[in-house]
Amino acid sequence: MNLKSKSNISDPNDKHSLYDLAIIGGGPAGVAAGVYAARKKIKTVFITENFRNQSVVSDNIQNWIGTVSISGEDLAKNLEKHLKALAGDIIDIKEKETVINITKNSDGIFTITTDKSTYNTKTVLIASGSIRRKIKIKGAEEFEGKGITYCATCDGPMFTDMDVVVIGGGNSAFESASQLLAYAKSVTILQRSDFKADPITIKKVLSNPKARGISNIDLLEVKGDKFVSGIVYKDKDTGKETELPVSGIFVEIGANPSVEYIKNGIVELDDKEQIIVDPKTQKTSCVGIWSAGDCTDGLYKQNNIAVGDAIKALEDIFKWLKK
Ligand SMILES: Cc1cc2nc3c(=O)[nH]c(=O)nc-3n(C[C@H](O)[C@H](O)[C@H](O)COP(=O)(O)OP(=O)(O)OC[C@H]3O[C@@H](n4cnc5c(N)ncnc54)[C@H](O)[C@@H]3O)c2cc1C
Repeated sequence: MNLKSKSNISDPNDKHSLYDLAIIGGGPAGVAAGVYAARKKIKTVFITENFRNQSVVSDNIQNWIGTVSISGEDLAKNLEKHLKALAGDIIDIKEKETVINITKNSDGIFTITTDKSTYNTKTVLIASGSIRRKIKIKGAEEFEGKGITYCATCDGPMFTDMDVVVIGGGNSAFESASQLLAYAKSVTILQRSDFKADPITIKKVLSNPKARGISNIDLLEVKGDKFVSGIVYKDKDTGKETELPVSGIFVEIGANPSVEYIKNGIVELDDKEQIIVDPKTQKTSCVGIWSAGDCTDGLYKQNNIAVGDAIKALEDIFKWLKK
């Protein structure tokens, strides 16, 4: 084992040598990178807690390109199957392992520590995704995926000619509202404090006669039978409670990137704790570490985008390893 060398891709049949690549995360980003790594014969350790991704709760994903409709569960199963079918001796899959630390030694080699083991590698792709912040009110858990959703681009068309609300008051909430106005009968933006989006965006969205914004409220309850039928909120100033009849609730109150294990400063994070990447290559601030998917500061968070960005990263990693 030559820890100093990064000049040649390791012999994929040599089980004892240093890995060329460690991929962290079994969502769409991690799996896409894993599939490409297998095909390019990059000796890889693939570490993930599981093969579930954020959209597993969705019954009906309609924007996974090439597939008219698929459930989140089936999408996750297909991703796992694809990686395992190609893994062979090239991709060493470590499931049910949580990465807890990454360090870089003076030779430029990374040591990845998990709750079960340690792995040495020349390069790292971080694809550990994020966890969307959820509304925590009565009925919210029950109607998750039954009218409560997190992606206007993905699910907007399902709410054509229906009344919907967007929860949140930042730019993503207003951008979602703007997209939904193309389909929905009405879009109400509900925000617990003042609106935080850019004034120009707020003005543009609220100038649409189908849109309205209500700020300074407390959300109380999601109502429904099999699917969402309304949302109850209270005006913080007057205390008045209102039940708004709606079929869709789009939650846009942010996400927490899964980056606990790199808070040692090994890569630069932005103020939302997203990993800052160069969008041309997905390189992070640390030489030898790339990142893709929802844990990055990429603007749009979707399955297809996570996959595309991870493949871009993998191409760049391959080029870097061959140097
Ligand atoms: C409810 C919901 C519905 C959605 N619906 C759609 C949709 O219809 N269409 C669409 O395009 N997008 C949708 N999205 C967005 C989409 O799910 C995400 O953009 C996508 O999952 C991001 O993929 P990812 O690989 O970056 O991360 P994730 O899917 O978040 O996967 C991260 C992976 O990393 C693993 N992991 C995390 N931390 C660690 C660690 N420390 N050690 C080891 N492993 C770790 C996790 O177990 C997981 O396997 C939806 C999101 C939500 C929340």
